[in-house]
Amino acid sequence: MSLLSLHTQKLTRDETKSHHQHLALKLIYANSEISRADIARATGLTRTAVSAVVAELLAAGLVEELGQGPSAGGKPPTLLRVVAGARQIIGIDLAGAALRGCVFDLRGRPVHQASVPFLTGGRGTLDLVQELTDRLVALADRPLLGIGVGLPGLIDTQLGIVQQAVNLGWQELALGDLLTERYGLPVYLLNDSQAAALAEYTFANPTRAADLAVMLVEQGVSAGLVIGGQLYQGGGHSGASEIGHVRAVEGGELCACGHFGCLETVAGQRAILRWARTIYLNQPGSLLRQLAADAPQIDLAAVVAAYRAGDPALTQMVTQLGRYLGIAATNLAVALNVPLIILAGSVAQFGDPLAQAVKAEMLQRSFAPLAELTEVRVSALGADAVMLGAAALLLANELRVV
Ligand SMILES: [Zn+2]
Repeated sequence: MSLLSLHTQKLTRDETKSHHQHLALKLIYANSEISRADIARATGLTRTAVSAVVAELLAAGLVEELGQGPSAGGKPPTLLRVVAGARQIIGIDLAGAALRGCVFDLRGRPVHQASVPFLTGGRGTLDLVQELTDRLVALADRPLLGIGVGLPGLIDTQLGIVQQAVNLGWQELALGDLLTERYGLPVYLLNDSQAAALAEYTFANPTRAADLAVMLVEQGVSAGLVIGGQLYQGGGHSGASEIGHVRAVEGGELCACGHFGCLETVAGQRAILRWARTIYLNQPGSLLRQLAADAPQIDLAAVVAAYRAGDPALTQMVTQLGRYLGIAATNLAVALNVPLIILAGSVAQFGDPLAQAVKAEMLQRSFAPLAELTEVRVSALGADAVMLGAAALLLANELRVV
């Protein structure tokens, strides 16, 4: 036997072992607790193979033995579970008004947080990203699995390249390599709406829906998709659906993309603030007047607070916002037949009435049974969705448990 074939054989055996390890770990991760016998049943591996693989996972500290489960006749089985604190993951969100990051445990629970404001006297964005990451790496108190970064724009996740991120001023930036060199850790980049979709699928999906769409509304409006339990990245590059540039109003305002009346111009964050400022100026009784000294000072937090306190003009605004978003939601439902649409980003703070207005618009616009079968809800992950989804990419690619 030649050296080469010996080498090949060895490699194959290692690959098989590694595959078995991932299979077992994925099953233990998916179940809060499980016995070796159940792992053998579910994977088709022999009990001996399962015992060997579990011994390695125990030695790596990724899995621990709990007490004993109920007996099925013989000796009661020892239950296993994933040690959530065995490793940590850094998730970073570059989509908002500040750069934010979080150190998560393996169950996506936040352990440490940090943020860096964008406005720091002309310092480059990359500098700020490194400052934030330095702080997060220092905060981590368990071995790090790696770093996930969610950001708006065209991202090549495979190559770790930001092809274009207009808001961050980046083009063809090998951010993945830059961060890997600096920290010696695996780094994954992901479009922000795709990150939000992955977060919903992984951490806020009690019914284990395999298909869902997330509409992320921040400065822009975009959609991320999970189809058949896989993040949909459409042909190898970004693939995020730029639904913010479907026409929502005839004529309408000029959009950054060069067209008029795009959804983003009536439903993005800038549009919401402009709307609220007009209410402030035209309606002396508006609750917004109690929350801001003058119209330019109104921020989204003030809008949400006045809306929650029952300001009637803002209630109308949220209904109209839902109608606009319903146009894009209808397109998603009709084209892709996704049974679940989740509204994420800062608009999620408007709560169920926004989801209901989106659904009402869908019923108006599309074949009714299709719209009726589509569940629309607001995200329960709040402002953490993008960071969490970026971190989930490490669970998917490094541990292969989701
Ligand atoms: Zn546009």
